Amino acid sequence: MLRLTDIKLPLDHAEEALAAAIRARLHVGAQAVRSYTVFRRGHDARKRGAIQLIYTLDVDVADEAKLLQRFADDPHVRPTPDTNYRFVTHASAIFSRDFPVAESESQKSAIHDRTPQKHSHRPVVIGMGPCGLFAGLILAQMGFRPIILERGKAVRERTKDTWDLWRKRNLHPESNVQFGEGGAGTFSDGKLYSQISDPHHYGRKVLTEFVKAGAPEEIVYVSKPHIGTFRLVTMVENMRNTIESLGGEIRFEHRVDDIDIQTDASGTRHVRGVVLANGEQIRTDHVVLALGHSARDTVEMLHKRGVYLEAKPFSIGFRVEHPQSIIDRARFGPQAGHPLLGAADYKLVHHCGNGRSVYSFCMCPGGTVVAAASEPGRVVTNGMSQYSRNERNANAAIVVGIDPSDFTPYDGSGSPLAGIALQRHWESRAFELGGGTYDAPGQLVGDFIAGRASQTFGEVQPSYKPGVHLTDLAQALPDYAIEAIREAMPAFDRKIKGFARHDAIFTAVETRTSSPVRVRRNDEDCQSLNTRGLFPAGEGAGYAGGILSAGVDGIRVAEAVALSIAAMSQAL
Ligand code: FAD
Repeated sequence: MLRLTDIKLPLDHAEEALAAAIRARLHVGAQAVRSYTVFRRGHDARKRGAIQLIYTLDVDVADEAKLLQRFADDPHVRPTPDTNYRFVTHASAIFSRDFPVAESESQKSAIHDRTPQKHSHRPVVIGMGPCGLFAGLILAQMGFRPIILERGKAVRERTKDTWDLWRKRNLHPESNVQFGEGGAGTFSDGKLYSQISDPHHYGRKVLTEFVKAGAPEEIVYVSKPHIGTFRLVTMVENMRNTIESLGGEIRFEHRVDDIDIQTDASGTRHVRGVVLANGEQIRTDHVVLALGHSARDTVEMLHKRGVYLEAKPFSIGFRVEHPQSIIDRARFGPQAGHPLLGAADYKLVHHCGNGRSVYSFCMCPGGTVVAAASEPGRVVTNGMSQYSRNERNANAAIVVGIDPSDFTPYDGSGSPLAGIALQRHWESRAFELGGGTYDAPGQLVGDFIAGRASQTFGEVQPSYKPGVHLTDLAQALPDYAIEAIREAMPAFDRKIKGFARHDAIFTAVETRTSSPVRVRRNDEDCQSLNTRGLFPAGEGAGYAGGILSAGVDGIRVAEAVALSIAAMSQAL
Protein backbone atom coordinates (compact mmCIF):
# COMPACT_ATOMS: atom_id res chain seq x y z
CA MET A 1 0.00 0.00 0.00
CA LEU A 2 1.25 3.49 -0.83
CA ARG A 3 0.49 6.58 1.22
CA LEU A 4 0.05 9.76 -0.81
CA THR A 5 0.05 12.99 1.17
CA ASP A 6 -0.82 16.56 0.26
CA ILE A 7 -3.34 15.78 -2.50
CA LYS A 8 -5.25 19.05 -2.94
CA LEU A 9 -8.68 19.34 -4.51
CA PRO A 10 -11.28 22.10 -4.59
CA LEU A 11 -13.95 22.08 -1.88
CA ASP A 12 -16.74 20.94 -4.18
CA HIS A 13 -14.83 18.37 -6.20
CA ALA A 14 -16.59 15.39 -7.73
CA GLU A 15 -16.05 11.93 -6.17
CA GLU A 16 -14.13 10.74 -9.29
CA ALA A 17 -11.65 13.60 -8.90
CA LEU A 18 -9.86 11.67 -6.14
CA ALA A 19 -9.07 8.70 -8.40
CA ALA A 20 -8.00 11.08 -11.15
CA ALA A 21 -5.73 12.93 -8.72
CA ILE A 22 -4.09 9.63 -7.69
CA ARG A 23 -3.43 8.67 -11.31
CA ALA A 24 -2.06 12.11 -12.07
CA ARG A 25 0.15 12.07 -8.97
CA LEU A 26 1.63 8.64 -9.74
CA HIS A 27 1.65 9.08 -13.55
CA VAL A 28 -0.18 5.77 -14.03
CA GLY A 29 -3.27 4.58 -15.87
CA ALA A 30 -6.55 3.45 -14.31
CA GLN A 31 -5.55 -0.25 -14.38
CA ALA A 32 -2.57 0.42 -12.04
CA VAL A 33 -4.78 1.60 -9.14
CA ARG A 34 -6.71 -1.25 -7.50
CA SER A 35 -8.39 0.71 -4.69
CA TYR A 36 -7.83 3.54 -2.26
CA THR A 37 -9.04 4.77 1.13
CA VAL A 38 -9.00 8.23 2.66
CA PHE A 39 -6.64 8.20 5.65
CA ARG A 40 -7.06 11.89 6.46
CA ARG A 41 -9.06 14.83 5.10
CA GLY A 42 -8.31 18.40 6.14
CA HIS A 43 -8.72 21.76 4.56
CA ASP A 44 -6.64 24.82 3.79
CA ALA A 45 -8.73 27.98 4.26
CA ARG A 46 -5.91 30.49 4.01
CA LYS A 47 -7.39 31.73 0.72
CA ARG A 48 -11.03 32.16 1.70
CA GLY A 49 -12.17 32.46 -1.90
CA ALA A 50 -10.47 29.19 -2.89
CA ILE A 51 -10.65 26.82 0.06
CA GLN A 52 -9.06 23.46 -0.73
CA LEU A 53 -9.49 20.00 0.71
CA ILE A 54 -6.19 18.27 1.51
CA TYR A 55 -6.11 14.49 1.45
CA THR A 56 -3.84 11.77 2.70
CA LEU A 57 -4.72 8.61 0.74
CA ASP A 58 -3.75 4.96 1.09
CA VAL A 59 -3.59 3.46 -2.36
CA ASP A 60 -3.38 -0.19 -3.38
CA VAL A 61 -1.37 -0.26 -6.60
CA ALA A 62 -0.33 -2.99 -9.01
CA ASP A 63 3.40 -2.37 -8.91
CA GLU A 64 4.21 -0.86 -5.56
CA ALA A 65 7.98 -1.53 -5.50
CA LYS A 66 8.48 0.06 -8.90
CA LEU A 67 6.48 3.17 -7.93
CA LEU A 68 8.33 3.52 -4.64
CA GLN A 69 11.58 3.40 -6.56
CA ARG A 70 10.36 5.97 -9.06
CA PHE A 71 9.28 8.35 -6.26
CA ALA A 72 12.17 7.58 -3.90
CA ASP A 73 12.94 11.27 -3.43
CA ASP A 74 9.32 12.37 -3.04
CA PRO A 75 8.27 12.75 0.63
CA HIS A 76 4.61 12.66 -0.43
CA VAL A 77 4.76 9.10 -1.81
CA ARG A 78 5.75 6.61 0.90
CA PRO A 79 4.84 3.09 1.98
CA THR A 80 1.75 3.14 4.21
CA PRO A 81 2.91 2.66 7.82
CA ASP A 82 1.49 -0.24 9.79
CA THR A 83 -0.84 1.41 12.30
CA ASN A 84 -2.46 -1.80 13.61
CA TYR A 85 -2.40 -2.05 17.37
CA ARG A 86 -0.62 -5.07 18.88
CA PHE A 87 -0.82 -6.05 22.53
CA VAL A 88 2.53 -6.19 24.34
CA THR A 89 1.53 -9.38 26.14
CA HIS A 90 -1.54 -11.29 27.24
CA ALA A 91 -2.39 -12.69 30.65
CA SER A 92 -2.72 -16.15 29.10
CA ALA A 93 0.91 -15.96 27.96
CA ILE A 94 1.93 -15.37 31.58
CA PHE A 95 -0.54 -17.59 33.42
CA SER A 96 -1.66 -20.03 30.70
CA ARG A 97 -5.16 -18.53 30.95
CA ASP A 98 -6.84 -15.19 31.69
CA PHE A 99 -5.69 -13.38 34.79
CA PRO A 100 -6.71 -15.61 37.69
CA VAL A 101 -9.07 -14.08 40.19
CA ALA A 102 -10.24 -15.70 43.37
CA GLU A 103 -13.94 -15.04 43.39
CA SER A 104 -14.67 -17.30 46.34
CA GLU A 105 -12.70 -18.78 49.22
CA SER A 106 -12.74 -22.22 47.59
CA GLN A 107 -11.26 -20.83 44.37
CA LYS A 108 -8.46 -19.11 46.23
CA SER A 109 -6.45 -22.22 47.00
CA ALA A 110 -6.88 -23.51 43.44
CA ILE A 111 -5.49 -20.26 42.08
CA HIS A 112 -2.67 -20.20 44.57
CA ASP A 113 -1.68 -23.71 43.46
CA ARG A 114 -1.24 -22.42 39.96
CA THR A 115 0.26 -18.96 40.42
CA PRO A 116 2.19 -17.06 43.05
CA GLN A 117 -0.21 -15.44 45.45
CA LYS A 118 0.75 -11.89 44.60
CA HIS A 119 -0.43 -12.41 41.04
CA SER A 120 -3.94 -13.16 42.08
CA HIS A 121 -4.33 -9.44 42.76
CA ARG A 122 -5.95 -7.66 39.88
CA PRO A 123 -4.64 -4.31 38.68
CA VAL A 124 -6.70 -1.37 39.95
CA VAL A 125 -7.47 1.71 37.87
CA ILE A 126 -8.57 4.81 39.78
CA GLY A 127 -10.81 7.01 37.63
CA MET A 128 -12.89 6.32 34.55
CA GLY A 129 -12.15 9.34 32.37
CA PRO A 130 -10.64 8.70 28.95
CA CYS A 131 -7.32 7.70 30.53
CA GLY A 132 -8.80 5.20 33.00
CA LEU A 133 -11.25 3.99 30.37
CA PHE A 134 -8.46 3.10 27.94
CA ALA A 135 -6.15 1.74 30.62
CA GLY A 136 -9.05 -0.46 31.78
CA LEU A 137 -10.03 -1.48 28.25
CA ILE A 138 -6.51 -2.47 27.19
CA LEU A 139 -5.88 -4.36 30.44
CA ALA A 140 -9.20 -6.15 29.95
CA GLN A 141 -8.38 -6.93 26.31
CA MET A 142 -5.07 -8.40 27.49
CA GLY A 143 -6.97 -10.62 29.93
CA PHE A 144 -5.93 -8.90 33.17
CA ARG A 145 -9.48 -8.30 34.45
CA PRO A 146 -8.88 -4.84 35.98
CA ILE A 147 -10.97 -3.28 38.72
CA ILE A 148 -11.92 0.31 37.84
CA LEU A 149 -12.89 2.51 40.77
CA GLU A 150 -14.77 5.69 39.94
CA ARG A 151 -15.89 8.18 42.59
CA GLY A 152 -18.73 9.56 40.45
CA LYS A 153 -21.89 7.95 39.16
CA ALA A 154 -22.68 6.01 35.97
CA VAL A 155 -23.06 8.40 33.07
CA ARG A 156 -26.88 8.68 32.86
CA GLU A 157 -27.29 9.40 36.58
CA ARG A 158 -24.32 11.72 36.40
CA THR A 159 -26.01 13.63 33.59
CA LYS A 160 -29.03 14.29 35.85
CA ASP A 161 -26.79 15.59 38.66
CA THR A 162 -24.87 17.82 36.26
CA TRP A 163 -28.09 19.31 34.92
CA ASP A 164 -29.24 19.85 38.51
CA LEU A 165 -26.46 22.45 38.86
CA TRP A 166 -27.15 23.97 35.45
CA ARG A 167 -30.91 24.19 36.00
CA LYS A 168 -31.43 24.44 39.74
CA ARG A 169 -28.09 25.56 41.19
CA ASN A 170 -27.55 22.30 43.12
CA LEU A 171 -23.91 21.28 42.97
CA HIS A 172 -23.20 17.57 43.58
CA PRO A 173 -19.57 17.42 44.74
CA GLU A 174 -19.14 13.76 43.71
CA SER A 175 -21.17 13.83 40.48
CA ASN A 176 -20.66 16.73 38.11
CA VAL A 177 -18.83 17.87 34.97
CA GLN A 178 -15.51 16.69 36.41
CA PHE A 179 -16.45 13.48 38.23
CA GLY A 180 -18.28 10.40 37.01
CA GLU A 181 -18.26 7.80 34.26
CA GLY A 182 -16.47 9.15 31.18
CA GLY A 183 -14.51 11.72 33.18
CA ALA A 184 -14.15 15.39 32.41
CA GLY A 185 -14.53 15.05 28.66
CA THR A 186 -18.06 13.63 28.71
CA PHE A 187 -19.86 16.96 28.67
CA SER A 188 -17.61 18.54 26.09
CA ASP A 189 -17.11 19.37 22.47
CA GLY A 190 -15.47 15.96 22.14
CA LYS A 191 -12.59 17.29 20.10
CA LEU A 192 -10.40 14.33 19.29
CA TYR A 193 -7.13 15.72 18.07
CA SER A 194 -3.86 16.34 19.72
CA GLN A 195 -0.35 17.47 18.90
CA ILE A 196 1.38 14.77 20.92
CA SER A 197 4.03 12.70 19.19
CA ASP A 198 2.54 9.24 18.72
CA PRO A 199 5.14 6.95 17.15
CA HIS A 200 3.22 3.79 18.12
CA HIS A 201 -0.07 5.01 16.59
CA TYR A 202 -1.95 4.64 19.88
CA GLY A 203 -4.19 7.51 18.79
CA ARG A 204 -5.44 5.29 15.97
CA LYS A 205 -6.35 2.60 18.51
CA VAL A 206 -8.27 5.19 20.57
CA LEU A 207 -10.24 6.39 17.54
CA THR A 208 -10.91 2.84 16.32
CA GLU A 209 -12.26 1.83 19.73
CA PHE A 210 -14.43 4.95 19.81
CA VAL A 211 -15.90 4.01 16.41
CA LYS A 212 -16.61 0.47 17.69
CA ALA A 213 -18.38 2.09 20.63
CA GLY A 214 -20.60 4.20 18.36
CA ALA A 215 -18.63 7.26 17.23
CA PRO A 216 -19.13 8.36 13.62
CA GLU A 217 -16.62 6.65 11.29
CA GLU A 218 -15.38 9.97 9.99
CA ILE A 219 -13.43 10.53 13.22
CA VAL A 220 -10.68 8.26 11.92
CA TYR A 221 -10.08 10.34 8.79
CA VAL A 222 -11.13 13.98 9.25
CA SER A 223 -8.23 16.12 10.43
CA LYS A 224 -10.07 17.70 13.36
CA PRO A 225 -12.62 15.12 14.49
CA HIS A 226 -15.14 15.81 17.22
CA ILE A 227 -18.02 13.84 18.71
CA GLY A 228 -20.07 16.15 20.91
CA THR A 229 -21.66 15.38 24.24
CA PHE A 230 -24.74 13.38 23.28
CA ARG A 231 -22.84 10.63 21.45
CA LEU A 232 -20.09 10.49 24.06
CA VAL A 233 -22.60 9.39 26.69
CA THR A 234 -23.65 6.33 24.67
CA MET A 235 -20.09 5.50 23.66
CA VAL A 236 -18.89 5.52 27.24
CA GLU A 237 -21.67 3.08 28.19
CA ASN A 238 -20.75 0.77 25.31
CA MET A 239 -17.10 0.77 26.34
CA ARG A 240 -18.11 -0.03 29.90
CA ASN A 241 -20.05 -3.06 28.60
CA THR A 242 -17.02 -4.21 26.61
CA ILE A 243 -14.71 -4.00 29.64
CA GLU A 244 -17.21 -5.94 31.76
CA SER A 245 -17.70 -8.59 29.08
CA LEU A 246 -13.93 -9.18 29.17
CA GLY A 247 -13.97 -9.79 32.92
CA GLY A 248 -13.20 -6.25 34.06
CA GLU A 249 -15.12 -4.83 37.01
CA ILE A 250 -16.33 -1.25 37.28
CA ARG A 251 -17.51 0.23 40.55
CA PHE A 252 -19.18 3.64 40.54
CA GLU A 253 -19.51 5.80 43.65
CA HIS A 254 -16.33 4.13 44.95
CA ARG A 255 -13.91 6.88 45.85
CA VAL A 256 -10.34 5.93 46.72
CA ASP A 257 -9.41 7.78 49.90
CA ASP A 258 -6.06 6.22 50.69
CA ILE A 259 -3.25 4.15 49.23
CA ASP A 260 -1.43 1.48 51.18
CA ILE A 261 2.30 1.97 50.58
CA GLN A 262 4.85 -0.27 52.26
CA THR A 263 8.62 0.11 52.36
CA ASP A 264 10.80 -2.99 51.87
CA ALA A 265 14.15 -3.79 53.51
CA SER A 266 16.04 -1.90 50.80
CA GLY A 267 13.96 1.23 51.44
CA THR A 268 11.92 0.93 48.23
CA ARG A 269 8.28 1.97 48.53
CA HIS A 270 5.67 -0.39 47.02
CA VAL A 271 1.93 -0.02 46.55
CA ARG A 272 0.10 -2.82 48.35
CA GLY A 273 -3.49 -1.73 48.00
CA VAL A 274 -6.10 1.00 48.07
CA VAL A 275 -8.64 2.03 50.71
CA LEU A 276 -12.10 3.21 49.65
CA ALA A 277 -14.26 5.90 51.24
CA ASN A 278 -16.54 3.13 52.58
CA GLY A 279 -13.57 1.61 54.45
CA GLU A 280 -13.14 -1.35 52.10
CA GLN A 281 -9.54 -2.31 51.32
CA ILE A 282 -8.52 -3.79 47.99
CA ARG A 283 -5.18 -5.59 47.83
CA THR A 284 -3.18 -4.94 44.67
CA ASP A 285 0.38 -4.38 43.47
CA HIS A 286 -0.57 -2.25 40.47
CA VAL A 287 -2.52 1.00 40.67
CA VAL A 288 -3.17 3.24 37.68
CA LEU A 289 -3.74 6.77 38.96
CA ALA A 290 -6.03 8.33 36.33
CA LEU A 291 -7.56 11.02 38.56
CA GLY A 292 -8.01 13.96 36.20
CA HIS A 293 -7.10 17.49 37.23
CA SER A 294 -9.87 18.14 39.75
CA ALA A 295 -9.42 15.44 42.42
CA ARG A 296 -7.79 17.86 44.84
CA ASP A 297 -8.57 15.76 47.92
CA THR A 298 -6.92 12.70 46.38
CA VAL A 299 -3.83 14.70 45.40
CA GLU A 300 -3.62 16.00 48.98
CA MET A 301 -3.76 12.39 50.19
CA LEU A 302 -0.92 11.41 47.80
CA HIS A 303 1.14 14.32 49.12
CA LYS A 304 0.52 13.16 52.69
CA ARG A 305 1.60 9.64 51.74
CA GLY A 306 4.88 11.00 50.37
CA VAL A 307 4.26 10.27 46.68
CA TYR A 308 6.58 12.43 44.57
CA LEU A 309 4.63 15.48 43.27
CA GLU A 310 5.68 18.80 41.82
CA ALA A 311 3.87 22.03 40.93
CA LYS A 312 3.50 22.60 37.19
CA PRO A 313 2.53 25.53 34.96
CA PHE A 314 -1.06 25.90 33.74
CA SER A 315 -3.27 28.77 32.56
CA ILE A 316 -6.09 30.94 33.91
CA GLY A 317 -8.51 33.30 32.24
CA PHE A 318 -12.10 33.77 31.04
CA ARG A 319 -14.46 32.11 28.54
CA VAL A 320 -15.44 34.36 25.65
CA GLU A 321 -18.59 34.07 23.50
CA HIS A 322 -19.27 35.47 20.03
CA PRO A 323 -21.89 34.76 17.41
CA GLN A 324 -20.60 31.70 15.51
CA SER A 325 -21.46 33.49 12.27
CA ILE A 326 -18.66 36.04 12.69
CA ILE A 327 -16.10 33.26 13.16
CA ASP A 328 -17.46 31.37 10.12
CA ARG A 329 -17.30 34.50 7.97
CA ALA A 330 -13.80 35.42 9.15
CA ARG A 331 -12.50 31.93 8.49
CA PHE A 332 -14.40 30.73 5.44
CA GLY A 333 -15.62 33.95 3.74
CA PRO A 334 -18.15 33.09 1.03
CA GLN A 335 -17.89 29.36 1.86
CA ALA A 336 -19.20 29.89 5.43
CA GLY A 337 -21.79 27.23 6.19
CA HIS A 338 -20.40 24.68 3.71
CA PRO A 339 -21.28 21.21 5.08
CA LEU A 340 -17.76 19.82 4.63
CA LEU A 341 -16.28 22.70 6.61
CA GLY A 342 -18.79 22.75 9.47
CA ALA A 343 -18.68 25.47 12.11
CA ALA A 344 -15.32 27.26 12.03
CA ASP A 345 -12.83 27.18 14.87
CA TYR A 346 -9.89 29.42 15.71
CA LYS A 347 -6.60 29.33 17.53
CA LEU A 348 -5.10 32.63 18.66
CA VAL A 349 -2.03 33.67 20.58
CA HIS A 350 -0.62 37.03 21.60
CA HIS A 351 2.67 37.74 23.39
CA CYS A 352 2.09 40.72 25.68
CA GLY A 353 4.26 43.64 26.72
CA ASN A 354 4.30 42.41 30.33
CA GLY A 355 5.97 39.15 29.28
CA ARG A 356 2.81 37.03 29.53
CA SER A 357 1.26 35.05 26.69
CA VAL A 358 -2.48 34.99 26.10
CA TYR A 359 -4.01 32.27 23.95
CA SER A 360 -7.32 30.72 23.04
CA PHE A 361 -7.94 27.25 24.41
CA CYS A 362 -10.56 24.52 24.08
CA MET A 363 -12.52 26.40 21.42
CA CYS A 364 -16.06 25.05 21.01
CA PRO A 365 -17.69 26.05 17.71
CA GLY A 366 -21.48 26.30 17.90
CA GLY A 367 -21.49 25.31 21.55
CA THR A 368 -22.34 26.48 25.04
CA VAL A 369 -20.41 27.63 28.07
CA VAL A 370 -20.89 25.24 30.99
CA ALA A 371 -20.68 25.41 34.76
CA ALA A 372 -17.77 23.07 35.54
CA ALA A 373 -17.25 23.46 39.30
CA SER A 374 -16.75 20.42 41.51
CA GLU A 375 -16.45 22.15 44.89
CA PRO A 376 -19.25 23.99 46.72
CA GLY A 377 -18.98 27.78 46.81
CA ARG A 378 -16.81 27.96 43.68
CA VAL A 379 -17.50 28.82 40.04
CA VAL A 380 -15.55 27.43 37.06
CA THR A 381 -16.34 27.80 33.36
CA ASN A 382 -15.67 25.46 30.44
CA GLY A 383 -17.26 24.72 27.05
CA MET A 384 -19.17 21.95 25.31
CA SER A 385 -21.16 21.31 22.15
CA GLN A 386 -23.21 18.68 20.41
CA TYR A 387 -22.04 16.81 17.30
CA SER A 388 -24.01 19.23 15.09
CA ARG A 389 -22.26 22.27 16.58
CA ASN A 390 -25.27 24.33 15.65
CA GLU A 391 -25.77 26.52 18.71
CA ARG A 392 -25.77 30.24 18.05
CA ASN A 393 -22.49 31.10 19.84
CA ALA A 394 -18.84 30.13 19.50
CA ASN A 395 -16.93 29.98 22.77
CA ALA A 396 -13.33 29.52 23.85
CA ALA A 397 -11.18 30.06 26.88
CA ILE A 398 -8.93 33.11 26.63
CA VAL A 399 -6.17 32.30 29.07
CA VAL A 400 -2.85 33.51 30.39
CA GLY A 401 0.02 31.11 31.07
CA ILE A 402 1.20 31.00 34.70
CA ASP A 403 3.96 29.02 36.41
CA PRO A 404 4.83 27.98 39.98
CA SER A 405 6.48 31.34 40.72
CA ASP A 406 2.97 32.86 40.40
CA PHE A 407 1.57 30.47 43.03
CA THR A 408 3.61 31.83 45.97
CA PRO A 409 1.10 34.46 47.18
CA TYR A 410 -1.52 31.72 47.60
CA ASP A 411 0.63 29.20 49.49
CA GLY A 412 3.91 30.69 50.60
CA SER A 413 5.23 27.29 51.69
CA GLY A 414 6.35 26.40 48.18
CA SER A 415 4.26 23.25 48.44
CA PRO A 416 3.64 21.30 45.21
CA LEU A 417 -0.07 21.93 45.92
CA ALA A 418 0.26 25.75 45.72
CA GLY A 419 -1.36 25.86 42.25
CA ILE A 420 -4.49 24.30 43.77
CA ALA A 421 -4.56 27.09 46.37
CA LEU A 422 -4.43 29.63 43.54
CA GLN A 423 -7.28 27.90 41.67
CA ARG A 424 -9.43 27.75 44.79
CA HIS A 425 -8.84 31.43 45.51
CA TRP A 426 -10.05 32.62 42.10
CA GLU A 427 -12.88 30.10 41.85
CA SER A 428 -14.22 31.35 45.22
CA ARG A 429 -13.85 34.94 43.99
CA ALA A 430 -15.86 34.07 40.87
CA PHE A 431 -18.60 32.60 43.06
CA GLU A 432 -18.76 35.85 45.09
CA LEU A 433 -18.67 38.09 42.01
CA GLY A 434 -21.46 36.01 40.46
CA GLY A 435 -23.70 36.75 43.46
CA GLY A 436 -23.14 33.52 45.41
CA THR A 437 -25.74 31.54 43.49
CA TYR A 438 -23.55 29.60 41.00
CA ASP A 439 -24.22 32.27 38.37
CA ALA A 440 -20.97 33.10 36.60
CA PRO A 441 -19.73 36.67 36.80
CA GLY A 442 -19.67 38.19 33.32
CA GLN A 443 -18.76 41.34 31.46
CA LEU A 444 -19.06 42.64 27.92
CA VAL A 445 -15.69 42.61 26.17
CA GLY A 446 -16.01 46.33 25.29
CA ASP A 447 -16.60 47.24 28.93
CA PHE A 448 -13.75 45.00 30.07
CA ILE A 449 -11.33 46.75 27.73
CA ALA A 450 -12.65 50.17 28.80
CA GLY A 451 -12.42 49.22 32.50
CA ARG A 452 -16.08 49.74 33.51
CA ALA A 453 -18.67 47.34 34.93
CA SER A 454 -21.30 46.05 32.50
CA GLN A 455 -24.98 46.83 33.04
CA THR A 456 -26.84 45.13 30.18
CA PHE A 457 -26.25 42.52 27.50
CA GLY A 458 -26.07 43.53 23.84
CA GLU A 459 -26.93 41.32 20.88
CA VAL A 460 -24.83 38.38 22.14
CA GLN A 461 -26.73 36.37 24.74
CA PRO A 462 -24.61 34.27 27.13
CA SER A 463 -25.21 30.52 27.11
CA TYR A 464 -23.88 29.71 30.61
CA LYS A 465 -26.47 28.14 32.89
CA PRO A 466 -27.80 28.75 35.52
CA GLY A 467 -27.05 32.39 34.60
CA VAL A 468 -24.59 35.23 34.17
CA HIS A 469 -24.33 38.11 36.62
CA LEU A 470 -22.92 41.24 34.95
CA THR A 471 -20.13 42.91 36.88
CA ASP A 472 -16.54 44.13 36.54
CA LEU A 473 -14.16 41.24 35.92
CA ALA A 474 -11.09 43.35 36.72
CA GLN A 475 -11.25 41.74 40.18
CA ALA A 476 -11.67 38.21 38.88
CA LEU A 477 -8.02 37.45 38.11
CA PRO A 478 -4.58 38.71 39.20
CA ASP A 479 -3.65 42.14 37.78
CA TYR A 480 -1.03 40.79 35.37
CA ALA A 481 -3.64 38.51 33.79
CA ILE A 482 -6.20 41.31 33.45
CA GLU A 483 -3.59 43.55 31.86
CA ALA A 484 -2.52 40.80 29.44
CA ILE A 485 -6.08 39.95 28.34
CA ARG A 486 -6.87 43.67 27.86
CA GLU A 487 -3.90 43.93 25.54
CA ALA A 488 -4.61 40.68 23.71
CA MET A 489 -8.25 41.23 22.74
CA PRO A 490 -7.65 44.12 20.30
CA ALA A 491 -4.75 42.12 18.84
CA PHE A 492 -7.09 39.15 18.32
CA ASP A 493 -9.61 41.51 16.68
CA ARG A 494 -7.01 42.29 14.03
CA LYS A 495 -6.94 38.56 13.19
CA ILE A 496 -10.70 37.90 13.43
CA LYS A 497 -12.75 41.00 12.74
CA GLY A 498 -15.32 41.42 15.49
CA PHE A 499 -13.41 39.40 18.09
CA ALA A 500 -13.23 42.41 20.42
CA ARG A 501 -16.74 43.60 19.54
CA HIS A 502 -18.37 45.50 22.35
CA ASP A 503 -21.08 42.96 23.18
CA ALA A 504 -19.00 39.76 23.03
CA ILE A 505 -19.21 38.25 26.51
CA PHE A 506 -16.62 37.13 29.01
CA THR A 507 -17.61 34.75 31.80
CA ALA A 508 -15.31 33.81 34.67
CA VAL A 509 -13.36 31.95 35.71
CA GLU A 510 -11.41 29.47 33.62
CA THR A 511 -8.97 27.75 35.98
CA ARG A 512 -9.08 24.06 35.09
CA THR A 513 -7.11 24.26 31.85
CA SER A 514 -4.74 21.51 32.94
CA SER A 515 -3.43 20.03 36.15
CA PRO A 516 -1.56 22.37 38.53
CA VAL A 517 0.39 19.31 39.75
CA ARG A 518 2.57 16.68 38.09
CA VAL A 519 2.84 13.22 39.67
CA ARG A 520 6.16 12.44 38.10
CA ARG A 521 6.92 8.97 36.75
CA ASN A 522 9.86 7.13 35.17
CA ASP A 523 9.90 7.37 31.39
CA GLU A 524 10.65 3.70 30.81
CA ASP A 525 8.21 1.86 33.08
CA CYS A 526 5.67 4.64 33.83
CA GLN A 527 5.93 4.07 37.59
CA SER A 528 6.02 6.87 40.15
CA LEU A 529 9.50 8.24 40.79
CA ASN A 530 9.41 7.03 44.38
CA THR A 531 6.61 4.46 44.64
CA ARG A 532 6.75 1.15 42.76
CA GLY A 533 3.45 -0.16 41.48
CA LEU A 534 1.92 3.32 41.23
CA PHE A 535 1.35 4.38 37.61
CA PRO A 536 0.48 8.12 37.40
CA ALA A 537 -1.39 8.72 34.14
CA GLY A 538 -3.49 11.10 32.12
CA GLU A 539 -4.29 14.74 32.66
CA GLY A 540 -4.23 14.78 36.47
CA ALA A 541 -0.70 13.43 36.60
CA GLY A 542 0.45 15.94 33.99
CA TYR A 543 0.84 13.43 31.12
CA ALA A 544 -2.09 14.41 28.90
CA GLY A 545 -4.15 17.42 27.93
CA GLY A 546 -7.35 16.37 26.25
CA ILE A 547 -9.46 13.33 25.50
CA LEU A 548 -7.25 11.79 22.81
CA SER A 549 -3.95 12.26 24.61
CA ALA A 550 -5.49 10.97 27.87
CA GLY A 551 -6.69 7.84 26.02
CA VAL A 552 -3.26 7.41 24.45
CA ASP A 553 -1.61 7.72 27.86
CA GLY A 554 -4.06 5.16 29.27
CA ILE A 555 -2.89 2.66 26.62
CA ARG A 556 0.75 3.39 27.33
CA VAL A 557 0.31 2.89 31.05
CA ALA A 558 -1.79 -0.28 30.62
CA GLU A 559 1.09 -1.76 28.62
CA ALA A 560 3.52 -0.76 31.39
CA VAL A 561 1.29 -2.46 34.00
CA ALA A 562 1.08 -5.63 31.91
CA LEU A 563 4.84 -5.74 31.43
CA SER A 564 5.36 -5.18 35.15
CA ILE A 565 3.04 -8.10 35.98
CA ALA A 566 4.94 -10.25 33.46
CA ALA A 567 8.29 -9.24 34.94
CA MET A 568 7.12 -9.96 38.50
CA SER A 569 5.89 -13.39 37.49
CA GLN A 570 9.24 -14.22 35.87
CA ALA A 571 11.14 -13.03 38.93
CA LEU A 572 9.33 -15.56 41.14
P1 FAD B 1 -10.65 12.87 33.76
O1 FAD B 1 -11.41 12.82 32.50
O2 FAD B 1 -10.73 14.09 34.58
O3 FAD B 1 -11.13 11.61 34.61
C1 FAD B 1 -10.70 11.40 35.93
C2 FAD B 1 -11.73 10.55 36.65
O4 FAD B 1 -11.18 10.13 37.89
C3 FAD B 1 -13.00 11.31 36.97
O5 FAD B 1 -14.10 10.64 36.42
C4 FAD B 1 -13.04 11.33 38.50
O6 FAD B 1 -14.35 11.21 39.01
C5 FAD B 1 -12.20 10.12 38.86
N1 FAD B 1 -11.58 10.22 40.19
C6 FAD B 1 -10.85 11.27 40.66
N2 FAD B 1 -10.43 10.99 41.91
C7 FAD B 1 -10.89 9.77 42.23
C8 FAD B 1 -10.79 8.96 43.40
N3 FAD B 1 -10.13 9.37 44.50
N4 FAD B 1 -11.40 7.75 43.39
C9 FAD B 1 -12.09 7.32 42.30
N5 FAD B 1 -12.23 8.06 41.17
C10 FAD B 1 -11.62 9.26 41.14
N6 FAD B 1 -10.62 17.67 25.85
C11 FAD B 1 -10.59 17.43 24.51
O7 FAD B 1 -9.66 16.80 24.02
N7 FAD B 1 -11.59 17.90 23.70
C12 FAD B 1 -12.64 18.61 24.19
O8 FAD B 1 -13.51 19.01 23.43
C13 FAD B 1 -12.68 18.86 25.59
N8 FAD B 1 -13.69 19.57 26.13
C14 FAD B 1 -13.81 19.65 27.48
C15 FAD B 1 -14.94 20.23 28.04
C16 FAD B 1 -15.13 20.26 29.41
C17 FAD B 1 -16.39 20.85 29.97
C18 FAD B 1 -14.12 19.73 30.27
C19 FAD B 1 -14.30 19.77 31.76
C20 FAD B 1 -12.97 19.18 29.73
C21 FAD B 1 -12.81 19.13 28.34
N9 FAD B 1 -11.68 18.55 27.75
C22 FAD B 1 -11.64 18.34 26.40
C23 FAD B 1 -10.56 18.05 28.58
C24 FAD B 1 -10.67 16.53 28.73
O9 FAD B 1 -11.95 16.23 29.16
C25 FAD B 1 -9.63 16.02 29.68
O10 FAD B 1 -8.36 16.36 29.18
C26 FAD B 1 -9.71 14.51 29.84
O11 FAD B 1 -10.99 14.13 30.26
C27 FAD B 1 -8.67 14.03 30.83
O12 FAD B 1 -8.83 12.65 30.97
P2 FAD B 1 -8.38 11.87 32.27
O13 FAD B 1 -8.91 10.49 32.12
O14 FAD B 1 -6.93 12.06 32.47
O15 FAD B 1 -9.11 12.60 33.50
